[in-house]
Amino acid sequence: MRGKKKKRILMVGGDQRDLYLLKSLAEMDAAVSAFALPKTSLPAGVSYCLKPEKAMAQADVVILPMPGISADGKLYAPLVQGDVYLTKEQWQSVKEETLILVGVAADMLKILAAEKRWELVETAELDEIAVPNAIPTAEGAIKIAVEETPFTIDGAEVVILGYGRVGEVLAKKIKALNGNVTVVNRGKKRLEQAKTDGFQVGVWRNLGELVAKSDIVYNTIPSLVLTGSVIAKMKSSACIIDLASKPGGTDFAAAEKQGVKASLAPGLPGKVAPQFAGELLGKVYPEIIAQFFEEQANREKTQKTMPRKMEKKSSLEQAEELTEEHKVRIRKKAVAAATTKINGKVRKAQKKVEFFEQSGEEIKKTANKGKKKQQTKLRNQGE
Ligand code: NAP
Repeated sequence: MRGKKKKRILMVGGDQRDLYLLKSLAEMDAAVSAFALPKTSLPAGVSYCLKPEKAMAQADVVILPMPGISADGKLYAPLVQGDVYLTKEQWQSVKEETLILVGVAADMLKILAAEKRWELVETAELDEIAVPNAIPTAEGAIKIAVEETPFTIDGAEVVILGYGRVGEVLAKKIKALNGNVTVVNRGKKRLEQAKTDGFQVGVWRNLGELVAKSDIVYNTIPSLVLTGSVIAKMKSSACIIDLASKPGGTDFAAAEKQGVKASLAPGLPGKVAPQFAGELLGKVYPEIIAQFFEEQANREKTQKTMPRKMEKKSSLEQAEELTEEHKVRIRKKAVAAATTKINGKVRKAQKKVEFFEQSGEEIKKTANKGKKKQQTKLRNQGE
């Protein structure tokens, strides 16, 4: 008897972290290959792909680096020479229902995922990753302040925008270095938490006044909050360190015009603690992949044991097909919404798919009831 075909995992691009991750993946019962990483750095058991096409078409799982790809298809691959692009056409070759793991997905990837029914997981938002990663992010953010400012953090006025996972860890570390921290957060609950944690807190309408007396402004909010008019109030000796995901929350052009030093600092865990960040991925990703394989195997098993389709369609089958049609229609809408970059609409549309799946169950129940009624009627007629 021929052995079971091994599942294929492909990693495309990545940095030092991904080499640690590959080490863990190589221990899985799967065929692991890598593209756009240096051949000589690959751990034992991982095969090297010079060209990605065949491997992409055969993969059951495709892993992209945390920053993923940019809108024009440029892959984050700092360990190899030159720019690497993966075009939309190349992505089209990836099979339906493939698992795609990426820190943050570009719109192009989201659109394709909806079209091709990939299981797309944006891992940067998973608590198992985001919570531990807040530590190296905060350490990296402090490193930038130490290197980029002519003063000490000790005694500096520091404003932190956002008191989420990163904001909280950063605020506590700056406080430990004797910086004077003020936290600003949109939601009341987290603002109250900041107060309980012993920080001064500020409100949005006073943001101008707060930044006017600050030496360092850290932003962790992925939305434009440091606008030109807010930056105009800052001292020219002050600096902005924006930690939010691209494009950040700062009007960088306005900062430059007004002579305020501002920098966007993405990918800090990978830069300041690649071993920590890579081992973290190496712990979480194999769990996600193993669960995906298990669910896939269960689905295949169910499909194999399904009875053969009867010649004449029952009302139950018709009901199932009807809900399938709904799903296809809604999925198309999701793709259209993603195309116009309205992510809220994508989520709404996905919710609708779930709704139709649920209502499909209802239709099935009604059809079943009808079937039972019909059977009873026939029985009664026979009697
Ligand atoms: P988080 O726990 O979700 O916190 C996000 C914070 O932003 C919360 O305080 C939230 O306030 C606030 N916020 C979100 N949208 C807002 C809006 N439209 N207006 C005002 N406030 C808003 O996220 P996190 O893990 O701390 O990460 C923060 C950012 O850093 C993300 O963009 C993440 O991708 C990025 N990040 C960067 C690095 C790096 O290396 N630079 C590393 C890790 C994470 P509420 O409480 O009101 O919701």
